[in-house]
Amino acid sequence: MPLKTPAEYVDSLRELNIRAYVNGERVESVADHPSIAPHINTVAKTYELSHDPEHQDVMTAESHLTGERIHRYTHIFHSADDLVKKIQMLRLLGQVTGTCFQRCVGLDALNALYAITYEIDQGEGTSYHQRFRDYLTGVQRADLMLAGAMTDPKGHRAKRPSQQDDPDQFVRVVERRDDGVVIRGAKLHNTGGINSHEILVMPGTGLSDAEGDYAIACAVPANADGVLFIFGRQSNDNRKLEGGCDIGNPRFGVVGGEAMVVFDDVFVPHDRVFMNGESTYAGTMVNYFATWHRANYGGCKGGNADVLIGATAKMTKVLGTERNSVVRDKLIEMIHMNETTYASAIGASAMGYPLPCGSYMVDPMMANTVKQNITRNVYQIGRLSHDLAGGFLATMPGEQSFENPEIARFVEKYHQANPEYETRDRVKLGRYIENMTSVTTMVEAMHGAGSPQAQRIVMLGQADIDKKIEMADRVIDGDDDVEGLPLPGKRQPVEVEG
Ligand code: SF4
Repeated sequence: MPLKTPAEYVDSLRELNIRAYVNGERVESVADHPSIAPHINTVAKTYELSHDPEHQDVMTAESHLTGERIHRYTHIFHSADDLVKKIQMLRLLGQVTGTCFQRCVGLDALNALYAITYEIDQGEGTSYHQRFRDYLTGVQRADLMLAGAMTDPKGHRAKRPSQQDDPDQFVRVVERRDDGVVIRGAKLHNTGGINSHEILVMPGTGLSDAEGDYAIACAVPANADGVLFIFGRQSNDNRKLEGGCDIGNPRFGVVGGEAMVVFDDVFVPHDRVFMNGESTYAGTMVNYFATWHRANYGGCKGGNADVLIGATAKMTKVLGTERNSVVRDKLIEMIHMNETTYASAIGASAMGYPLPCGSYMVDPMMANTVKQNITRNVYQIGRLSHDLAGGFLATMPGEQSFENPEIARFVEKYHQANPEYETRDRVKLGRYIENMTSVTTMVEAMHGAGSPQAQRIVMLGQADIDKKIEMADRVIDGDDDVEGLPLPGKRQPVEVEG
């Protein structure tokens, strides 16, 4: 069965010798670096749970290419049930790790490439789809960790890729050879790339006919010549290195260990190239990827919020406020917001429909609504958590205060609330809440899978306001002819404007 164990995943990273930099210094082995380890631990959990009989139904699937049992993170969605199971998998993983487990970006990129290669072939007479199926078979059999890379630096935001003073602000082809292409540029905010086997490069925006050099989609090994990763800093990241009660989430990361990935004239052979100049398909591919990924947030953030709600509820016990009706009502509000986004993600999946290649797309209106709500609800849930946990969150003593005999007894005494709980446990909970509601976590909820306005543009396009005016006219005028009214689930993604 082609399912890696956690140890095999970590060992395989060691073998890659990925070129990475943390705080400006070259990393000897990403698999052994303390700043990257929490993110690797999180991914390792995705491998571990695929071997757990209790979770095999959501963590694995049957490959439509080989018939073998594969990890759901390398599966092509072939039904609404597949889409629902993916959301269930994300909630489970969110509950187990309390953070971002990174592999969904590669999964959605695989699905976007599967769909778009079929459509390019249909329109242009190319043969990308079979090439991609061959690549995908290898990915499934090796159970690879893939990172999707879409977000370009973008330079001057008012200018198109071809209008930039620096043409490298969007990843592009700088040379076409008989045996492949050479690409140059960078992708930002790259989730999980630094601890992945492969990077799936995709265009980051819709492109014009004249922008064929930017229409490049390909698979690049993370250790290919010319590829390097520059790891981003996160809120309080050095606390992970300190140990003690200040860490927050001790084993797993904060969000996805994002990095800048640079392609410094990287050669990609033809068998790894899945779009090469077909610029008119770039917008559709961006839409496919973004729509799947936006629905995900109802699953992963749902699982993360379950843990945060649990930590907040326990904090109320530590404080002795858990029976207060106002406190309970605020917990209900947190639960309500969380279940609303989860329900929308399940709904978007249940209303999925087949694409021309036979794979399944989520309902785009609901998927975008999920992400739009995430940009608000994660903040609101965090706000209520702060409200219930109290100002202590901002003034907690550090580990060192518990270790200094001169002051430890004062810290223990004056920060203890309900005597059934240790003061140090109160700090651990507080640090976890601080972690889950820090700048890094919030900003990821705001901008991951596209900034809020990107979802609102799609929502307006999907809403079909003229149809709604027609509905209003019919109701008001008393005409009960319902012919021609839209059926939910038949909505198609709108094109992204470049
Ligand atoms: Fe997966 Fe959520 Fe992380 Fe995106 S933000 S990679 S959907 S866990």
